[in-house]
Amino acid sequence: MATTRLHIDWTACDGRGLCAELLPHLIGRDEWGYPAALTGGVSARSDIPIGQADLEAADEAVALCPLVALRLLAD
Ligand code: SF4
Repeated sequence: MATTRLHIDWTACDGRGLCAELLPHLIGRDEWGYPAALTGGVSARSDIPIGQADLEAADEAVALCPLVALRLLAD
């Protein structure tokens, strides 16, 4: 079964946090305001596993990100 991940491109993001507001149980913000996964190691902080229940909100975050810094990836 494919795994869906929400990838955050920190080089494009400006750290305003809209995605963290849409997925507050999955995405927090670091000390500079940039979004990062609440769980997982450092290398996984910009690739957030998305379960079926969060797909709609993740889709919305991708569509609303003002800097096109979010993508949904399927493994
Ligand atoms: S919505 Fe986009 S620009 Fe805003 S914090 Fe999230 S990834 Fe960054």
